[in-house]
Amino acid sequence: MANFIPYGRQSISVADVEAVCEALTSDFLTQGPIVGQFEQAVAQLSGCQFGVAANSATSALHVACLALGIGSEDIVWTTPNTFIASANCAVYCGAKVDFVDIDPQTYNLCTVQLAEKLMRAKTENRLPKVVIPVHFAGHPCDMRAIYELSKHYGFSVIEDASHAIGAKYKGTPVGNRYSDICIFSFHPVKVMTSAEGGMAVTNNEALADHMRLLINQGITKSKRDFDTRSPGDWYYEQQTLGFNYRMTELQAALGLSQLNRLDSFIKRRRELVQRYYQLLSGLPIQLPGEADYAYSSWHLFPIVLNEALTEQRAAIYQYLREHNIGTQVHYIPVHTQPFYKQMGFSWGQFPVAEEYYARTLSLPLFPELSDTDQEYVVQTLKDAIDKAFIL
Ligand SMILES: *Cc1c(COP(=O)(O)O)cnc(C)c1O
Repeated sequence: MANFIPYGRQSISVADVEAVCEALTSDFLTQGPIVGQFEQAVAQLSGCQFGVAANSATSALHVACLALGIGSEDIVWTTPNTFIASANCAVYCGAKVDFVDIDPQTYNLCTVQLAEKLMRAKTENRLPKVVIPVHFAGHPCDMRAIYELSKHYGFSVIEDASHAIGAKYKGTPVGNRYSDICIFSFHPVKVMTSAEGGMAVTNNEALADHMRLLINQGITKSKRDFDTRSPGDWYYEQQTLGFNYRMTELQAALGLSQLNRLDSFIKRRRELVQRYYQLLSGLPIQLPGEADYAYSSWHLFPIVLNEALTEQRAAIYQYLREHNIGTQVHYIPVHTQPFYKQMGFSWGQFPVAEEYYARTLSLPLFPELSDTDQEYVVQTLKDAIDKAFIL
C-alpha cells in the first residue's frame, strides 16, 4: 500500500535548508535584514509598493482590520466558505461579523448576493466598513465587481489571499489593484511556506506604517514619528497598543528561498489539475473550474460529489483514509461553528455554502505529488464511489 498521501504538504529543497541554516548562524535570528528583503520580494511579486511580514496570516488579518479602523461599532463581512481566521480577525477588533453566501461555480463570495445584501444593508443603515473576500482554493474572486461596489457603498476591502499567492486576476497578480490590503499565508499546507508566517501587501503607505507599528508592540524607533524630541539613541516610543506579531529571520529566509520556487510550484499544481480533469472525467462529481478572468494558484482541488452521494461523503472520506489517502473538507461553514452560533448564526442562513459543504472533499494536490500517487488516489476514489453506490 502507498505511503500516506496528505491533501497538501510543503516541498523543501536543499537550497531552502541552506537558506535557513545561513540565517540561523547569522547575527540576527529576528529583526534582521532578511524580513525586509522578503517583504520587498513579496510586494514586488504582487505588484504592490509595500509588504509587512507577520508571524501568521491570522496576525496580518488582525492588524489589517485595525489599520482600517475596525472597532466595536463596525460591521465586517466575509464568506462562510473559509478558514475561521477570515472572520475571527474582525471579532478580535470587537466588530460584528456577517457573511455573504457563495457562488455555486467558484465557491467564492457571490458578488450578486453581495450587491443585494449591500442594497438592503444601506436601507437599514447597517453597511459594512470592511468586506473580506477570500480567493478560495487559489481561484481569484471577481475583484473588479467587488471594487466597484466598495466605491459605491464606501467600504474598504481586505483580500484574504491565503490560498492565492501567485494567482492572477485578469492577468495581474492578486492584491495590487482592487483592494486596500491583501494578505498571504505561508503555513506549510499553503502554496509556499515560511513554516508559520503571513504577509500584508498594500499600495497605501499610511496603512503599511500602521500595520508595521501594530506588529511590533506599537513601538517606533523612527525620529520623524516621535511625539517628543529624542533625548538619545536609546529612545523609542510606544504610540499605540500593539502586539508581538513579528516574523523571524529563519522564517523569512525560508520564505525568500521558497519564493524562487513559486512559479515551478504553481506550474506543477496546474499540471496535476489538468491530469485530474482527464483522470476523473465521467465520475459522478463536479470538478472545480477556472473562470475566464482567473489564473488559479490551485492551493486546493475541491470536488463536489453528486447529490445522490451526499449521505456517503463520510464513508468515502473514511475509505480513502483507510487506504492511506488524506482528503479534507474545505470548509465547514464558519457561521455553523459553535462560537458563531453563540452570536446568533444558525444552519440554513447561507444555503449555497452549506450545500457545497455537505458534498465536498479536497483531493491531494501539492507539487511533490507524483503521477503514480495521483493515479492511485483516482483509482481509490473510483473504488470508494462504486462501494458507496452499493451501500
Ligand atoms: C490558512 C488560512 C488563514 C490563516 O493563515 P495562518 O498563516 O495559518 O494564520 C487565513 N485565511 C485563510 C483563507 C486560510 O486558508
